[in-house]
Amino acid sequence: MSGGPLSFPARFFCSPLVQSSVSNFRPDGNRKVVKSDLVIGTDGAHSAVRKLLMRQVRMDYSQQYIGHGYKELTIRPTSEREFRMDHGSLHIWPRQTFMMIALPNKDKTFTCTLFMPFEKFEEIKTQDEVLAFFEREFPDAIPIIGQENLINDYLKNPVGPLMTVKVKTCLFVCFVVVFLNIPPPFFQCKPYHYQDFCVILGDAAHAMVPFYGQGMNCGFQDVLVLDKVSPPFFSSWGVVSCLTI
Ligand SMILES: Cc1cc2nc3c(=O)[nH]c(=O)nc-3n(C[C@H](O)[C@H](O)[C@H](O)COP(=O)(O)OP(=O)(O)OC[C@H]3O[C@@H](n4cnc5c(N)ncnc54)[C@H](O)[C@@H]3O)c2cc1C
Repeated sequence: MSGGPLSFPARFFCSPLVQSSVSNFRPDGNRKVVKSDLVIGTDGAHSAVRKLLMRQVRMDYSQQYIGHGYKELTIRPTSEREFRMDHGSLHIWPRQTFMMIALPNKDKTFTCTLFMPFEKFEEIKTQDEVLAFFEREFPDAIPIIGQENLINDYLKNPVGPLMTVKVKTCLFVCFVVVFLNIPPPFFQCKPYHYQDFCVILGDAAHAMVPFYGQGMNCGFQDVLVLDKVSPPFFSSWGVVSCLTI
């Protein structure tokens, strides 16, 4: 394959990286093996590409879940298709061990995210329990979300886990190593790539809990660094490969 990103209409699973090919399982159940020159894994915290890399290189890696999870609820627009709250403000309902936030979207909805310990989510299973919990903790949010939507969203939407993923280095560190010529052992660089064929970026390489508000920025920073290191070196990633201890 020459140029252009691979698109994954279905789930992307593995085949040995050493064969420089990826298998793309399509919705019809057929498997298509795609030969590629370069795979950039930006498939998030549960990255399939990272799992493949870990089988090919001695990657130092750590993953840690926190005790809180998150559930998303939606605040719909008004009948006049307007925001239900001021969309220029940050909406936060802090409650000691848990909190809810609401962030505006372009379609005039808000995404409400309830961050809470898993044990507390497990206590709330029925319609009555959802309503009682919101009446006690977030009574002003009920008319904004709408009682029926609240119960439906709450019971339907999953509780997502929150985790930190650390592969021992990120592209930013490698950029510093390459351009400031600081020896790799100082940074304990470990591979986050496989030769000149595969690299992971974004949450796949370094997921963090959302409370830092930095996950997306770090992903963008990876892209900037990749852009900086790639033009002269892209044809031969030997420069980056040499950082591997
Ligand atoms: C609740 C919450 C709030 C957050 N708030 C903030 C914030 O305020 N500020 C901030 O900077 N960051 C925030 N983050 C973190 C931010 O969302 C992530 O850092 C960012 O989305 C990472 O981008 P990414 O492209 O690396 O991965 P993702 O956004 O996770 O994208 C990965 C993509 O790969 C796809 N994918 C996964 N597996 C496969 C597969 N096998 N085949 C094909 N496709 C696949 C997924 O469907 C997805 O589209 C928050 C995260 C959460 C969970």
